[in-house]
Amino acid sequence: MSGSERSSLETFRLKKLIEELESKEGKATELISQYIPPTRQISDAMTNLREELGTSANIKSKSTRKNVQDAIESIMQKLRLFRTPPKNGLVIFSGAIPRGGPGTEKIETYVIEPPEPINLFLYRCDSKFYLDPIKEMLVEKDVYGLIVMDRSDASFALLKGRRLDIVETITSGSPSKHDAGGQSARRFQRLVEIAAHEFYKRVAEHAEKIFLPIPNLKGIIIGGPGPTKNEFYEGNFLHYQLQNKVLAVEDLSYTQEPGVYELVEKSKEALKNVEFLKEKKLIQDFLYLLAKNSAQVAYGEKDVRSKLEKGMVKKLILSADLGTTRFKFRCLNCNNVKEVTYTRQQVASMTKKELCEKCGGTMEVEEEKSIIEELAEIADSTNAKVEVVSSETDEGKMLMNSFGGIVAILRFAGEEQQ
Ligand SMILES: [Zn+2]
Repeated sequence: MSGSERSSLETFRLKKLIEELESKEGKATELISQYIPPTRQISDAMTNLREELGTSANIKSKSTRKNVQDAIESIMQKLRLFRTPPKNGLVIFSGAIPRGGPGTEKIETYVIEPPEPINLFLYRCDSKFYLDPIKEMLVEKDVYGLIVMDRSDASFALLKGRRLDIVETITSGSPSKHDAGGQSARRFQRLVEIAAHEFYKRVAEHAEKIFLPIPNLKGIIIGGPGPTKNEFYEGNFLHYQLQNKVLAVEDLSYTQEPGVYELVEKSKEALKNVEFLKEKKLIQDFLYLLAKNSAQVAYGEKDVRSKLEKGMVKKLILSADLGTTRFKFRCLNCNNVKEVTYTRQQVASMTKKELCEKCGGTMEVEEEKSIIEELAEIADSTNAKVEVVSSETDEGKMLMNSFGGIVAILRFAGEEQQ
């Protein structure tokens, strides 16, 4: 996710596609995955595939041989459409997917321009598509900085997705009781305070060196036993850009490495909230407008669809849990067209042929699309922004349960579509 942030719709689409590809299985080792990084030439891949085609002539099973060769040829055909790889490279999956019993398999080919640069050049033939590198792109990559400190030391760590790197631990060298020697209690107290102040400055310097250069640092969490962490936070010792990113200050039982692990555990709630902050905010904005001026919002499929088609929608917000499908039927006899939305249960029990209301003839399915894709297409053609929101938050659940998973924020009266 370097540079521009990927949209929630793109992430949703990629997730769905991966789910679909994961469910596919060849009847033998005959599904092909081809990864091409942006740094390689299309011709390199072509040369490679031609060699694989030659090698495949040795496959004993006649049907496997044919399926492998058809898949390789299908990939080569797709590659001819590219002079150079797209900016993030190219991933192509191809293979014979069984539709029912033996002999029903058909070659399916998927061309994906990945949302992030692919860095491997790979050809693989297996009974499943090789999806790990592209699945990796869905993993949360936000980085958080962690500081665990008390009077005597401070540890710094980075939390990247699920990976934790403990960067370093520094000690304060703060005077301890046995250093007090013959000094007066007041003088000793003064020395302790000066040392603490110096230590906080050093902690801030190390934090700046470690955290400030990280471009996508999402937040900082500070923790530790006792009041030290609070003094440090409230004293504004951190660089202001880092100070502004502090999400939580947590009380811990441990310092150093065990303290870092304890802090990760304790801050899970805070991190989860940050991850879903954008989703919560989207629904909150909608609810705010609904209460303030309901003419500026729409909800439910029917209302939203009609306003979307009129170009009145500024932002379309859809629940990722929507499981309905939009069908377009056409009458074979009189050409009458009917569009309907069916739930999962309705789809499971439908016959895909319906009676025409106009002439009584047979209507057949002409188009079939998930409701999210179908509405997103209308949104696209009217310049409405699309957001797909999970049901992981209370707001996301409300979107699905109270508003049927489909809401929209409308353009202001007189606001032109751009
Ligand atoms: Zn008809």
